[in-house]
Formats: sequence, structure tokens, C-alpha cells
Amino acid sequence: MARVSYPYEAPVSQTLFDRAAAVTPGGVNSPVRAFRAVGGTPRFMVSGNGPYLTDADGREYVDLVCSWGPMILGHAHPDVIGAVQEAVARGTSFGTPGEGEVALAEEIVARVEPVEQVRLVSSGTEATMSAIRLARGFTRRSKVIKFAGCYHGHVDSLLASAGSGVATFALPDTPGVTGAQAADTIVLPYNDLEAVNEAFHAHPGEIACVITEASPGNMGVVPPQPGFNQGLKDACARNGALFISDEVMTGFRTSKAGWYGIDGVRPDLMTFGKVMGGGFPAAAFGGRKDVMEHLAPVYQAGTLSGNPVATAAGLAQLRLLDDAAYDKVDAVSEQIRGLVTEALSKEGVAHRLQTASNMFSVFFTGREVRDYEGAKAQESFRFSAFFHSMLAQGVYLPPSSFESWFVSTAHDERAIQRIADALPAAARAAAEATA
Ligand code: PLP
Repeated sequence: MARVSYPYEAPVSQTLFDRAAAVTPGGVNSPVRAFRAVGGTPRFMVSGNGPYLTDADGREYVDLVCSWGPMILGHAHPDVIGAVQEAVARGTSFGTPGEGEVALAEEIVARVEPVEQVRLVSSGTEATMSAIRLARGFTRRSKVIKFAGCYHGHVDSLLASAGSGVATFALPDTPGVTGAQAADTIVLPYNDLEAVNEAFHAHPGEIACVITEASPGNMGVVPPQPGFNQGLKDACARNGALFISDEVMTGFRTSKAGWYGIDGVRPDLMTFGKVMGGGFPAAAFGGRKDVMEHLAPVYQAGTLSGNPVATAAGLAQLRLLDDAAYDKVDAVSEQIRGLVTEALSKEGVAHRLQTASNMFSVFFTGREVRDYEGAKAQESFRFSAFFHSMLAQGVYLPPSSFESWFVSTAHDERAIQRIADALPAAARAAAEATA
């Protein structure tokens, strides 16, 4: 752990964290929230409004996490809140079909051309798990190719890493995932088409699918090299496997039609979450009709799938996301990226600001990052110092250097000015940080 000073105490958050740690493993319900990568007290938030979050100690932050992507219109957007209030007043769950879920599915199908049919679920993890099962059921094959550094939720078979450079023998990444579950997963370096072609060659007729983040944001932002996604698609087509593009993070964020709207590579199956739920648990997987029609015999279900409150929130949010909204998010992103680069350059801090549409992150390294090995080679200790300086000055960044930053349509000049004012000291802290 880097030696970092924590300029502000957060006594109420600390008390809540202590209470949480007694009843919840690690004190949080999703590990990155615990600040383990950067140290210090995780902030317990009590409210969000536009680009701001307010914590339990009464301190306000400009939010550059946006709930890890979903809050693309900012917090508590009046139209989304209104749609939720209207829906919730009619009841919270019926366990029957309802019009809201039809309308949300229609909206997804209308926006993302390769999605001919879609099934709603409650989390991105469920979406990728179901897509993999469907791909295996459809192709009657077992093996799955995934890429190191791509995260697809905590699906057993996708929590596997390559063992000591032998990419074709995946090992469980965590206790609780068995060798058998990991054994059918082939983990390859990201952006390496040659490795993909070799894997197909080594396992003829065995590979059900290739799953990739459409443009990865879970090792920091590492966009696909030109032709990489098309190469995956072509390799799958040549070998009778399905190409699954995981757009849980990029979907409806990077453009109206997500990353597909940017690179136009047509997947067989796609997964969505985050933005499409408007801050509620809603996610989806969809794609080719002839593949989706295999649900059944491939089994998939969910008590709260297509929940009326979640679908109302998601639909309200998507309907507000027109071209002007994406132009605004892109412009905010560009402005903040410029400020970050300027501040770090002024202090002579080696860094790479990597971008995928309006998603971006900073790597503390002088080299372009093309894969997970490159991401791990950065000087993460500088990020911890940078993070805590920004936090102390009222800017909430993702508490890890392996995460994308997210902005919203609500980030106005006042919010951006606060970021601009905070950056010089944070850049200095990064420059002075020691491992
Ligand atoms: N896929 C991607 C690309 C993600 O970024 C995530 C979560 O961050 C998931 C899947 C899992 O989604 P969830 O956290 O909703 O289960």
C-alpha cells in the first residue's frame, strides 16, 4: 500500500463502516467500494443530485463514478424520478408480464440493430451468465474464450485467469470456483488476434463463444485496436462459434447504440445493464433471433426480471438519451480529459489518458496500454495520492486505477470548475508520491 495521507477525516462514514464490517463481510456489498486499492475510509453517501453526491458527514462531491456508469443523466433526474414514482404507486412487482418490459425491450431492439430479440434480467452478471449458457446450448460446445482484464460480472466460468503464461489452461481466480468450472475457459491477452486464432486451431469444434467487453473499461479504459472486434467476429464465424459483445458498461453510454454504434461490428449476442436500468437492477441479453429462440430448451428465468419499477426508470432514462444528450456527455468528457492532462503534464507526471467515446481513465505510465499486463505495469501508488487529494477537495473518483471514470449530462460548468480547481494539487500529490 502506498504511503498516502488522508487530508480529511470522515467520522460518520467511519462509524458506519465499522458498523457495516460487523454484519457484512468487508463492510461493503461490492468489493471496490471498500477503498482497498487506495486506502482510507469509504464514503457512505446519503443523497445525489445532478453531478453531486453528499456523504454522511455532510460533504458534497462532484461525482465522476456515476454509480459505475448508470447515472448518465446525473442523480435524481426529475423525469426519471417522476416515472419511478408513478410506477411505484401502482405496485412494485406483479410476477406477470407487463407493458413496461415490452416497451423497454422495444427501445433496446430499436436502438441496437443486431438485437432482434432480448430477454430482461436483473444484473449484468446474470446477463453474461445467461448469454454464455445460451451460446453453449446453441452450439453444443463447452469452451469459452475470454480476455485477461475483461470483467463480465462474477460468473464462475468467467472468474478465471491464465496460469503462468500458459493461456490455454485457465485456473480459478478465486476460492469457490472449481478447476472444472475454469477448465472450459480459455483466457487470452486482450487485443491479440493471433492468440485467438491459435486457440481456435488448438481446440477445433470445441469453442462455443468468444466473449469480450465491447470496449474494455474494467482494467481502466483499453479500447480495442482497429480491426480487433471485427477479427473476433470473423474468427467466430469461420469456426462455428458465437461472438458475444458485453455492452453492460458501454451500452447506451458510448453512443445511442452503445459501442456497436461506434464500430458497427455485428455480434451474435450482446449483454446490457447499467444505463438501461436508470439506477435500478435491470439488465438484458439479446441478439440473433435464431439463437435467442433456444430459450427454451436452454433454461433461464428470474422472479424480478422485467420489474415494473426498474423498467419504468430505464425506459424514462433511455427516452431522454437523444443525440443532444450524447453530444453533451462527450463534450463534458473531453473538457475533463483536457484538464486532467494539463494538470499532470504541468507536474511532469508520466501518464496516459485513454479514451473510448466518453469513457476514459488515467494510467500512470508513459506507455500506451493495450492489455492487462500493460495496465498492471502502471504506477498505481501515484493514483492513490491523486485520488485522496481529489477526494479531499470534493471530487469523487473511482477508488481504483483500474476503473473507467464516468460523466453525465448534469456535469455543468460549476462542477467542472471544481474539478479544475482540485487538479493542480492532486497532480502535485501524484508527482510527489512514493511507492
Ligand atoms: N459486464 C461488464 C462489462 C461490467 O462492467 C459489469 C459490471 O461492472 C458486469 C458485466 C456485471 O454487471 P453487474 O455488476 O450488474 O452484475
